[in-house]
Amino acid sequence: MGAEKYQQMVYQRMQEKFRKWAESDSIKEKELYAFLHMLKGTAGSVGLNELTIIASEKLLTINDASEKEWLKGEWTLYLSSLLEALSFYETNNFPQVAMEETTAPTINNITKEFILIIDDDMVFISYLKNVLEEKGFSVIIAHNGKRGIELIYELQPAIVFLDIMLPDIDGFSILNNIKKIKKDRTFIAVMSSHHSKENRVRAFELGAMDFVSKPVDEEVLLAYVINRLAYRKELEYAIVIDELTQIYNRKYFESQLKMLIQKYEKTSEVFTIAILDIDYFKKVNDTYGHLIGDEVLRGFAALVKELKRDQDIFCRYGGEEFILLMPNTEAEEGYKLVEKIRLAMGQKVFSTNTANFHVTFSSGMMVINKCYTHPKKLLEAADQALYSAKEAGRNRVVLFDSSIVDMKKSEKLKVIVIDDVYIIRDIIARHFEGLSTSDQVAIEVATFGDGIQFLQSSWYDPNYKYVILLDWMLPNMSGIEVLKKIRANYTSKEVIVSMLTSQIGEEYVLEAFQNGADDYIRKPFQIADVSSRILHLAERIFNGSKA
Ligand code: GH3
Ligand code: MG
Ligand code: MG
Repeated sequence: MGAEKYQQMVYQRMQEKFRKWAESDSIKEKELYAFLHMLKGTAGSVGLNELTIIASEKLLTINDASEKEWLKGEWTLYLSSLLEALSFYETNNFPQVAMEETTAPTINNITKEFILIIDDDMVFISYLKNVLEEKGFSVIIAHNGKRGIELIYELQPAIVFLDIMLPDIDGFSILNNIKKIKKDRTFIAVMSSHHSKENRVRAFELGAMDFVSKPVDEEVLLAYVINRLAYRKELEYAIVIDELTQIYNRKYFESQLKMLIQKYEKTSEVFTIAILDIDYFKKVNDTYGHLIGDEVLRGFAALVKELKRDQDIFCRYGGEEFILLMPNTEAEEGYKLVEKIRLAMGQKVFSTNTANFHVTFSSGMMVINKCYTHPKKLLEAADQALYSAKEAGRNRVVLFDSSIVDMKKSEKLKVIVIDDVYIIRDIIARHFEGLSTSDQVAIEVATFGDGIQFLQSSWYDPNYKYVILLDWMLPNMSGIEVLKKIRANYTSKEVIVSMLTSQIGEEYVLEAFQNGADDYIRKPFQIADVSSRILHLAERIFNGSKA
């Protein structure tokens, strides 16, 4: 398209100019003026209105004849929004520079998972995050142990880098905690500068897979990460049993479902599928802790295993959601079985050292028929039935029928971008609008050029969950102030906030976390990366707060 070509030329000109200026220690104010003046004129006429607005603003306070020298630090700060716009444009529009040949060819297949860093040294974290993200890995950080444990549960990261010295809980206690769970084959690497023999022995005894000494070498670290992710993938491929509950896992379930559908299509033999979802499980975790929560999952699995018939296939679908596949079973028979399990579960007593308690589950069921021969449709139907069971008060079994179609509110997500750089808002907005609404989550985007505008708008609607991408450097009110205002009213369960930082904000990252940020994204970024990250974060918000 024509306009795009000219836009690219404007950016190229900016790029050349900044490059040239950066070669000397300072530039004259009149040079600065001349450039901004040029930009003001051309940018707007090729559709880059925002650049024109920025340039006009900047022109107001400088002089076209001034001989004053601007140091590099001064003009880069003064033009930071332009620099940001440029680097953003470069990252997303200019042809990508080829990856260095050191990159392993498989890297793209194994980058979809999270790497969690639990550490309180922000300089180190920023460094590590940067190194890993540059290679396409998604990194999430926890600046204390409590948050770290939460994130291990919520995100099930592939690798955890765990520091020993943390502000609240020490790394060994975290290991001890995780050891009892052995979550989904998460690789835990202790990363510490306290690499005494004693510490290393202790780390391995407590279940760490590796001990990485600080300071870390970048190349070694990358090789390590690639190695472990590849290994994990291999393991996953081979394994069909869920580690915690010792029943079948989701992968196995999916293969069995496919087979049953094929059989139905050939022989018309019906089967029934039931999703079993623990009620208020989050409360169990919050009241008694995750270890007891795990105990409940194990106990529940054992109970179902005992009551199900031999031909039934029982799987952990994920978290506290289970699926019972009942081959050669009609609705009534299946209903009776699940109902029997429900009653037995209601009788079961779980106990801690100090308390006894009961846990219930709700179930949504579906029998295969001619209109529902796609795995996804079948599951959706059962899920809708589950939703109405929850709505009706929980601790009950509901069989799908067409009258409950669409009763389930689709999960609605709003992505809000607060950034003064137009091109960033524009690209993110266009990206999500073009992302035809996925089957489960409907995404809408709203953008704001500054925090005050955002706060004054009536942006919050309880029917939505939010992911807010909040720029650090904003005119009028800083990102951190906006963050504080958000957190005064909304928790991470309703609103996830990811700070957008360029180089300049980095040393304040800790401050952001202390004020309730969930994440940060470093500029410039690849829109595709940010997008998958947002979707992942959104999954977390939806999974963590349905009650
Ligand atoms: P509802 O009655 O609507 O189902 O509410 P709920 O709280 O049971 O459901 P929700 O899906 O909101 O929360 C599920 C929680 O289960 C969130 C997550 O932290 C927790 N969880 C997921 N996997 C595990 C696990 O393996 N162990 C423990 N202890 N908790 C888990
Ligand atoms: Mg539940
Ligand atoms: Mg759930």
